Amino acid sequence: MNDLTDLTVRQARDALRRGEISSRELTTAFLERIDRLQPQLHPFLTLTPDLALQQAGAADQQLAAARRGETDLPPLLGVPLAVKDVLAVADVRCTCGSRILENFVPPYTATSVTHLLDAGMVVVGKTNTDEFAMGSSTENSAYGPSRNPWDPGCVPGGSSGGSAVAVASRMAPVALGTDTGGSVRQPASFCGVTGIKPTYGRVSRYGLVAYGSSLDTVGVLARTAEDVALLFQQMAGCDPLDATSMDLPVPAISLDGASSLKGLRIGVPQEYFIQGIQPEVEQMVRQAIQTMQSMGAEVLPVSLPHTEYALPVYYLIAPAEASANLARYDGIRFGLRKEADNLLEIFNRSRGAGFGPEVKRRIMLGTYALSAGYYDAYYGQAQKVRTLIKRDFEEAFQGVDVVAAPVAPSTAFRFGEHTDDPLAMYLEDVFTLPANLAGVPGLAFPVGFDQRGLPVGIQLMGPHFREELLFRVAHAYQQVTDWHLRRPELA
Ligand code: GLN
Repeated sequence: MNDLTDLTVRQARDALRRGEISSRELTTAFLERIDRLQPQLHPFLTLTPDLALQQAGAADQQLAAARRGETDLPPLLGVPLAVKDVLAVADVRCTCGSRILENFVPPYTATSVTHLLDAGMVVVGKTNTDEFAMGSSTENSAYGPSRNPWDPGCVPGGSSGGSAVAVASRMAPVALGTDTGGSVRQPASFCGVTGIKPTYGRVSRYGLVAYGSSLDTVGVLARTAEDVALLFQQMAGCDPLDATSMDLPVPAISLDGASSLKGLRIGVPQEYFIQGIQPEVEQMVRQAIQTMQSMGAEVLPVSLPHTEYALPVYYLIAPAEASANLARYDGIRFGLRKEADNLLEIFNRSRGAGFGPEVKRRIMLGTYALSAGYYDAYYGQAQKVRTLIKRDFEEAFQGVDVVAAPVAPSTAFRFGEHTDDPLAMYLEDVFTLPANLAGVPGLAFPVGFDQRGLPVGIQLMGPHFREELLFRVAHAYQQVTDWHLRRPELA
């Protein structure tokens, strides 16, 4: 066996079952690679080697028992996993990239993670994120940014930047992320990996630290669409602990079979190919669509006319919901407390010291948008326009099966490029926000590289609860192309 860290989830699972490797060997290989590359790329905020080796040991016992014919095997037994540090894992520190939760240890585990533990996975650590998932570069992490393995002078994207880096640099075969406005898809695109933002309500949010509750989703980043689908299959479904999770059957996703796209109608929305987009991004995305056409798909123009409103609508709704969700960090119940003479001063000092500048900005924006006299003009109006954006998608999906578009206007940008101008940073999200506002699923995957050698991503968006369609298309594309197999050269 060559380098074990090169194995995909599927390959690792199969090698474990055949007894060619043990979970302890596999896990140790990833932990050693983490030790080597963490100082350089910083994808992790917390490492859990003891937990990982204990889980790996238990997996090996189960594998041995199964070989003696004693038990059935959980579907992802013994395969390592990294978890974004906004998802609770019982007894493991959960910082959300914030000083205010620096020492917070949750007593319970997020449902999405529980499903993967039940499936036999091994947790190697918690990954870096912009503070409370607010950002597009990991530069808003209170613990310092992660670096893009394709060019350490560039950001990995965000907010699930740590997860994208961990997967792209083979420090984990797969990682969980969250996507409220693009935070799985954009870092997946910047780091050249594949990532799903599920339909809102498809995967339980229980145990995900809330940012924008009507937008938050839990997703997966891996090297292939097939690997992403393997985890998604385990995580999806109704959860009594999340009232917004949908009680719908989760179809068994089967990606085997021909790589033909015959009969598939791909919509190309003109509103996503606007001025200012990096020419190579447009070129690679169009080329990928052409490849899909040559595989049998029909390509049709579609219009999503309210796309331009997604940015202002999102940056009202998300901060409004965040301002309410973050009220709980008051120095009393969780995390950091700064002592003072009276209660109000404890609140002020704890929040003043615990939150970073971007989080404070959003709390102020959101509080303003929700305040008496402004509620209808801002939050109420934004909700109405949100409905129009959702209708755009519903109408488009009358005529096409999926919509294909760029993930972001450019490839990975350099550190500091947007830090002085919050609006410039928000503009990075123009193409990812609509799917969150509409609640539809989106899948990002690599379709080329720009002249500087940075990955370019495409996103497919589909009708509500049709994730399996997106996986099928991306898997077919990955059968005939090799962008997803490229690996960054690391010292
Ligand atoms: N970049 C967007 C923001 O800053 C989206 C973040 C996310 O999806 N969590 O809000």
